[in-house]
Amino acid sequence: MSKTIEIYARGVLPPRLDSRLDAAFTLHRDTGEMPSDAWLAEFGDRVVGMANASFSPLGAALMDRLPNLRIISSLGVGYDLIDVAAAKERGILVTHTPDVLNADVANYALLLLLAASRDLLAQDAYARSGRWARDGRAQLTRTLEGATLGIVGLGRIGRTLAKKLEIFGGPILYHGRHAQPDVPHEYCADLVAMARRCDALILLLPGGGATDHIINAEVMAALGPDGILVNVARGSVVDEPALITALETGALGFAALDVFAEEPGIPQALKDSDRVILSPHAASATHQTRQAMFDLTADNLIAYFTDGAPLTPVPECRDML
Ligand code: NDP
Repeated sequence: MSKTIEIYARGVLPPRLDSRLDAAFTLHRDTGEMPSDAWLAEFGDRVVGMANASFSPLGAALMDRLPNLRIISSLGVGYDLIDVAAAKERGILVTHTPDVLNADVANYALLLLLAASRDLLAQDAYARSGRWARDGRAQLTRTLEGATLGIVGLGRIGRTLAKKLEIFGGPILYHGRHAQPDVPHEYCADLVAMARRCDALILLLPGGGATDHIINAEVMAALGPDGILVNVARGSVVDEPALITALETGALGFAALDVFAEEPGIPQALKDSDRVILSPHAASATHQTRQAMFDLTADNLIAYFTDGAPLTPVPECRDML
């Protein structure tokens, strides 16, 4: 690889990713959402690649300030914050890090589902507080054995999760835009009707305009007072104010949330609720999986600048190769 290739690091790169890119390229680090005018004047037209580790929107305004940018290698599988159409119009390829995180994200969804159904945090609080000794046994919780479980978004991670959910022995339903011929589970085109049949819904679909607030008050009411909502997808897919109301009124039983509408902000009403488990967007956050994600982010840039063929372009950019 050549140090004459100049790469812009958007957001704070984790040390492993930073050092791999630093070894291969000339790396410009900038932690702001938009580089300064002075920086852009000096380096803007020299940058040909970007490593994106930021959780803020990336649109045409920045792309236009980097006129020779050819590739954005984004850390993470979700790329809803990147304006891919604008990138394509400018001849910029976008890559992401699919598959390497399937198992750990599915495991985390399963963990949240189990913790929600057995009210694990309340059990922990009960044991710590001394109430067990004072007041006797804790309240009973719900079983997942035989439960009807619905996956919204049966993609790479959703399919991995579906296999793990088979241990409970109940029906597994899924919703998406298409029925999938090669899976043994029942497809439900109508999300509300599916929610009505489910004991829990697990969200594993992309964020972005097409899925914004797809989980609305009607879906939550259909899931019902004993229903569990697990969101490991994106905060934007859930109508958060409607979620808060549904939890407060008892229209929805419980929510286990790894993602939020305004991260890292979490509405106080969710923090105050004892019907919620909160997690700081940590579903893929194991040492092993993050290392694989960092490496794939670097490898996409290295492969592109070696032979023009990045390993994992986003589907919309495959026709650019
Ligand atoms: P995939 O693209 O493999 O799967 C996405 C699924 O969502 C597909 O089955 C697709 O089915 C469905 N889908 C897409 N658009 C819609 C729509 N408009 N309405 C209904 N369903 C839709 O993605 P992955 O499984 O790799 O990842 C899923 C998402 O999980 C990511 O986009 C990301 O947002 C989130 N994620 C969160 C993490 C975390 O840390 N919490 C970590 C990793 C991922 P169909 O085409 O039939 O509609």
